[in-house]
Amino acid sequence: MDKGYVYLIGAGPGDPDLLTLKASKALKSADVIVYDYLSNNKLLEDCKPDAEYIYVGKQAANHAMKQEDINQLLAEKGKAGHTVARLKGGDPYVFGRGGEEAIELRKQGVRFETIPGITSAIAGPSYAGIPVTHRGVARSFHVMTGHFKDDYAEWDWEALTRLDGTLIFLMGIGNIPRITQALIESGKAADTPAAVIRWATYPIQKTVVGTLETLADDVEKAGIKPPGLIVVGPVVDYRDVMSTFENRPLFGQKIIVTRSRAQAGRLSGLIETMGAEVVELPMIEIEKQPVAKWVNYIETLKSYTWIVFTSQNAVEAFMDGLYSTGVDARQLGHLKLASIGSGTAKALKAYGLMSDVVPKRAISEALAELMKENLTSGDKVLVPSGNLASDVLKTELSTICTVDMPVVYDTVIGKESADHLKEVLAGDVHGITFTSASTVRNFNAMIEKAGITWPASKCFSIGPKTSKVLNELGVEPVESDDATIDSLVTCIEKALPEMRG
Ligand code: SAH
Repeated sequence: MDKGYVYLIGAGPGDPDLLTLKASKALKSADVIVYDYLSNNKLLEDCKPDAEYIYVGKQAANHAMKQEDINQLLAEKGKAGHTVARLKGGDPYVFGRGGEEAIELRKQGVRFETIPGITSAIAGPSYAGIPVTHRGVARSFHVMTGHFKDDYAEWDWEALTRLDGTLIFLMGIGNIPRITQALIESGKAADTPAAVIRWATYPIQKTVVGTLETLADDVEKAGIKPPGLIVVGPVVDYRDVMSTFENRPLFGQKIIVTRSRAQAGRLSGLIETMGAEVVELPMIEIEKQPVAKWVNYIETLKSYTWIVFTSQNAVEAFMDGLYSTGVDARQLGHLKLASIGSGTAKALKAYGLMSDVVPKRAISEALAELMKENLTSGDKVLVPSGNLASDVLKTELSTICTVDMPVVYDTVIGKESADHLKEVLAGDVHGITFTSASTVRNFNAMIEKAGITWPASKCFSIGPKTSKVLNELGVEPVESDDATIDSLVTCIEKALPEMRG
């Protein structure tokens, strides 16, 4: 009886950053996660990978599981001794039926705790630039259901009208004509500003603004479907001043980020902050080679004078491999170190090692040129590499001295992405980012396998080598000025007017 614990968690309206710290802690501790249609699936990414995930619906008419069964499920999982996270959109007690779950848990003697969430009723309007109260304009706000069975005529609409505050309806998208008509009939001015916000706080947020008189038509023309909320009152007009979320430079754009899973985070994060919807398609996964396969290079490190790192993956595979054999950075004390770009140099720095040589342009040719100035025939260069490494460095440098390129990691095609690709490309995609030649090759391989043609979306390339492979495939990419993530992001921002069409 003591062991199990159920958290009734408010997941917030959608934007994963609107999850509370308390909810985040609870989610990470849970070994059973019971989640909803309206809680953002992105929140699941930070949970324990071996947790049990149970989806329980619900999209208005399409309930995956009845409420009674959900109550029962929570009680059973709790009684079985699990830490259960029941993730609910917005706040659990704002039309979330969290109360029913709490009552059942209490009845069955299961310990539980409710963690409030940011409700869509307030955050939704806010993200659309609509304050629910405003001094001198709205002295109150009222949140109610817009879902009526037969009893909508029994509502005291005149009372609502007399309150004179902002009216917010949840679950009312299907009833907009009836709601707006009832408000006008009860005395609200037909030109009262009104808005509908769909998928509020998500990258696909859509806001439609009109008046009580026009809203039903406006919403129908815009093709708005649930989930959405309705806001009625003069505060809607402040959207012109207060809207920020929808004004971000990449808002409304859908961009595919092709990268190895471990590296995608920063690029995706930057593009997302600029407002785009990001779909991460990991093209490649990095599999480190067992050290046993290249341990002879560690044993003979003394004979080398330089190590050249051509990527962050090479740094991590080599350094982790080195340390796993029980030696430490002192083994590298006699060596000079070169990194192909600032990202690689930074990865090396994380291991406490500074690079002696970093070319301005992060390409093999630039590195080879710089290296040549530093090498004599007595040098010996080690280049820990991936299985798909280009031979530019070796060709260039071996005219001067010995160059060895042991394979310390393999690049393999992302397995999950192949399944997603077709589905993602079926919708509108405005841009696709490529951050290495191999991501292009793998993307192409996946496209061929799926039997689809290259998407018409704009392609963004991190540098000349990546562009070259794209060119060979008949694609003319927009190329980043520098081969860095920041430069790539700037390049996407610059291409915006064209992307908007
Ligand atoms: N507990 C939730 C509300 C659950 S009722 C909360 O506090 O937000 C479900 C209704 O909430 C939907 O029909 C819709 O009206 C509204 N809703 C929830 N999330 C929304 C979102 N991201 N955008 C717009 N409306 C949303």
